[in-house]
Amino acid sequence: MARATIIGSGPNGLAAAVALARAGYGVRVLEAADAIGGGTRSAEATLPGFVHDVCSAVHPAALASPFFQAFGLAERIDWIRPDISYAHPLDGGRAAIAWRDIERTAAGLGADERAWLVLLRPLSTHIGGVVDFTGNQMLRVPAEPVTALRYGLRMLEQGTPLSRRAFRTEEAAALLSGVLAHANTPLPSLSGAAAGLLLAALGHAGGWMHPRGGSQRIADALRDDLEAHGGVVETGVHVTDLASLDWGDPSRGDVLMLNTSPRLALTHPDVPAGFARAVGSYRYGPAAAKVDFALDGPVPWIHTDVAQSPTVHLGGTSDEVRASENAVAKGRVSDRPYVLTVQPSVFDPTRAPEGKAVLWAYIHVPQGSGLDPTELVTRQVERFAPGFRDRILASHAVPASSREAVNPSDIGGDILGGSFTVLQALRRPTFGVAPWRTPMRGVYLASASTPPGPGVNGLAGWHAARTALADAGTPATLDELFG
Ligand SMILES: Cc1cc2nc3c(=O)[nH]c(=O)nc-3n(C[C@H](O)[C@H](O)[C@H](O)COP(=O)(O)OP(=O)(O)OC[C@H]3O[C@@H](n4cnc5c(N)ncnc54)[C@H](O)[C@@H]3O)c2cc1C
Repeated sequence: MARATIIGSGPNGLAAAVALARAGYGVRVLEAADAIGGGTRSAEATLPGFVHDVCSAVHPAALASPFFQAFGLAERIDWIRPDISYAHPLDGGRAAIAWRDIERTAAGLGADERAWLVLLRPLSTHIGGVVDFTGNQMLRVPAEPVTALRYGLRMLEQGTPLSRRAFRTEEAAALLSGVLAHANTPLPSLSGAAAGLLLAALGHAGGWMHPRGGSQRIADALRDDLEAHGGVVETGVHVTDLASLDWGDPSRGDVLMLNTSPRLALTHPDVPAGFARAVGSYRYGPAAAKVDFALDGPVPWIHTDVAQSPTVHLGGTSDEVRASENAVAKGRVSDRPYVLTVQPSVFDPTRAPEGKAVLWAYIHVPQGSGLDPTELVTRQVERFAPGFRDRILASHAVPASSREAVNPSDIGGDILGGSFTVLQALRRPTFGVAPWRTPMRGVYLASASTPPGPGVNGLAGWHAARTALADAGTPATLDELFG
């Protein structure tokens, strides 16, 4: 039986492991941390009984992923699918709300009702075509060319100064800016628009969901399937040198998958100079500084709909959000930063003791920043939820400079596996139709540093596994592996 060694147990590593185990490989996953899951871990980071997501908390893309659809993730764990995908409070008690129902969202945006529908309805109703285009190496013919073209045109509109003309109301402009800012790029930018439009369209297609019990449930479901097919996971194994790792013999069909920073590949004894140069010039940053709160009760948002939204974007007007993101690109942090918050305990009582709550939050910061975000985040939440500070029982911060200790793949605190510029969306970390394959025989990259990039969807892992299977002369489809 051929062996597959996977370094890293993030969602892409486990997706690759599951696919290869089902294809008949003897699979071993080596994980540096003491717990499996990478970006899908959950832990009691503050107080006993308060379950926080260590990295990802909300999963717009998971159930739209062809890999997770074939895997049956929707059925394997209990998903919470709220009516509201995300909310964006404004000063004066106002707020813009992105309901899963696009008509209801648009109706709340006054003069921008039609503009919101024109922008997002064609993408959300053809979400399969958008996911096909964005969920793979983009240098290929898309399955739905008209949808891909429409998405590309909207990206040009929202990713350039033309975006200023898109909306007349502050509500609509702020609502969209909060989603476009996820990509941690200057705004406007094409890559910010690319990521944001996908997320916004998913918000009106399947919705922004989260697993009851925390993101760890995703990793656990993958691990269970891997073990059912004979695979094993070893935790507490930090691999620093491929030359001394016994991963088998590629001439016998053994494979090595790196669910890590591509930099680990450079420790392979046979790295060609061109590949070393490409990986060496692949860029990381900016970064994220995160803080988790244990609360004595729900966040006291002024706006009642915001209180019912698991994801809340803070930062005020679209101009303020842009200023915050552009400051980070220039190496600074705004006094009133854009804050991504998630409050899973609103719908999930398993996340905190009765009557208590958890809040997950992060801000964007420059590479390697040692800034503790707790005070900046607290002030931004207070701005839209006076009295929040009094509800804090405990908090746990992870500055960007400490993130590599949590996950060695998050170089300098970059949580996207490499900065998400247009160039690096196409060259991830190398150009080509199959960037998951390295020039070293039997060695593949299976992480967010390869297409389609960041997010919990398992697709980079699946693409790496299917490339390895094709190279071995045993190509397999998702239907064949999971049917
Ligand atoms: C704070 C934060 C918030 C996020 N929020 C969201 C969100 O809400 N929704 C969403 O979809 N995405 C979110 N993301 C992004 C998402 O978590 C990642 O894109 C995704 O987890 C990438 O998956 P991966 O399998 O490629 O790698 P990872 O999840 O990063 O896993 C890599 C694994 O490899 C291990 N590893 C690395 N190097 C070594 C080594 N040398 N030896 C052994 N093991 C190693 C790591 O410990 C880790 O377990 C967030 C990320 C962070 C950090």
